[in-house]
Amino acid sequence: MSQDKPHQNLAIIGHVDHGKSTLVGRLLFETGSVPEHVIEQHREEAEEKGKGGFEFAYVMDNLAEERERGVTIDIAHQEFDTDTYYFTIVDTPGHRDFVKNMITGASQADHAVLVVAADDGVAPQTREHVFLARTLGINELIVAVNKMDLVDYSQDTYDEVVGEVRELLDQVRFDTEDAEFIPVSAFKGDNVAERSENTPWYDGNVLLEALNDLPEPSPPTDAPLRLPIQDVYTISGIGTVPVGRVETGTLNTGDNVNFQPSDVGGEVKTIEMHHEEVDYAGPGDNVGFNVRGIGKDDIRRGDVCGPADDPPTVAETFQAQIVVMQHPSVITAGYTPVFHAHTAQVACTIESLDQKLDPASGEVAEENPDFIKSGDAAVVTIRPQKPLSIEPSSEIPELGSFAIRDMGQTIAAGKVLSVNERT
Ligand code: GDP
Repeated sequence: MSQDKPHQNLAIIGHVDHGKSTLVGRLLFETGSVPEHVIEQHREEAEEKGKGGFEFAYVMDNLAEERERGVTIDIAHQEFDTDTYYFTIVDTPGHRDFVKNMITGASQADHAVLVVAADDGVAPQTREHVFLARTLGINELIVAVNKMDLVDYSQDTYDEVVGEVRELLDQVRFDTEDAEFIPVSAFKGDNVAERSENTPWYDGNVLLEALNDLPEPSPPTDAPLRLPIQDVYTISGIGTVPVGRVETGTLNTGDNVNFQPSDVGGEVKTIEMHHEEVDYAGPGDNVGFNVRGIGKDDIRRGDVCGPADDPPTVAETFQAQIVVMQHPSVITAGYTPVFHAHTAQVACTIESLDQKLDPASGEVAEENPDFIKSGDAAVVTIRPQKPLSIEPSSEIPELGSFAIRDMGQTIAAGKVLSVNERT
């Protein structure tokens, strides 16, 4: 696998059980990202048990194991490459925090594959994920209409599902010109790496071709270090070890760093990555590190680590553009749901509804609306009920988006326009 190729972070989204994990397994399998001897072993086992055709059981088992282990410091990202790109699947599909991670920057995807099962069509999480992808600025979508084997590779069923998905994309103002539709079977392998004889009526790209043809992602920003803290451990012989993922900038031993909103800091003594000591870490690296003079109770999950001379911003209030995805009634000023931003979860009050926007043009449709409801886009002013470190999306997009959750659901997502800093 070559890391010299341009890198793409790819999100696999879609309703539960529509085949996301199976498709990831199939992609790894078809691109030779799983050692052949391991596959061979499972092929033999499968054949012995009369389960031919499930030769990528190994890949699937591994994914399941990942899922059970949950988020750890060395989240094993799935990786594969095509002729043009080196791909990382940015989150383990099926993971409980998937939606939240998608929004909060724990998985900044460049592009997404939307998996829709042909026998089920557009389902609730299909809507949720498409909406989030759109809000988060994913502009290119590959739509894999999966489980074609279950509908006898019927072109009519395929066309019906494509129609449903187009309608959904139109609803969230996703430019359907930028979406590519492919009939696949993740399970059998149709139209993933090779054109399938089962779909003679389809003459478009197969999935790997479509991935290969994606536009190059935008280059990383030259933003200062921002490292949201996921957990804080005490490790004997080392001391306090905050862990998290570097979102922007670099972390070097000897750096003078600062944690916000806890407002403490010190010199970086050691950095560990994949159980090895390193001198520095960059964007995308999951690290544990140790800072001189910082005790376990000085910092917490939700803090952001940055350079002492350019510390993370802490908001007194912030203005944001949000899109309401699903809310049973209406949202008015004073509403205080939980905001999920990077690794932080903080109750925040929507202090004022400043403007309602036309979601298609982005132009102001109404000043100071009395309420907003599902499907509305708006500019609002937000007051965190506890200190929250967050950044304007225009300056550090990785730390500038959030999800609003209430009643166990993502009800809205948004981007920070400006921050009124705590003094
Ligand atoms: P996820 O929840 O979206 O990750 O879905 P999974 O990948 O776990 O798949 C859910 C179920 O659908 C599993 O039992 C898979 O074996 C099955 N499945 C996935 N893709 C296909 C497919 O292309 N054809 C058929 N027949 N079954 C599939």
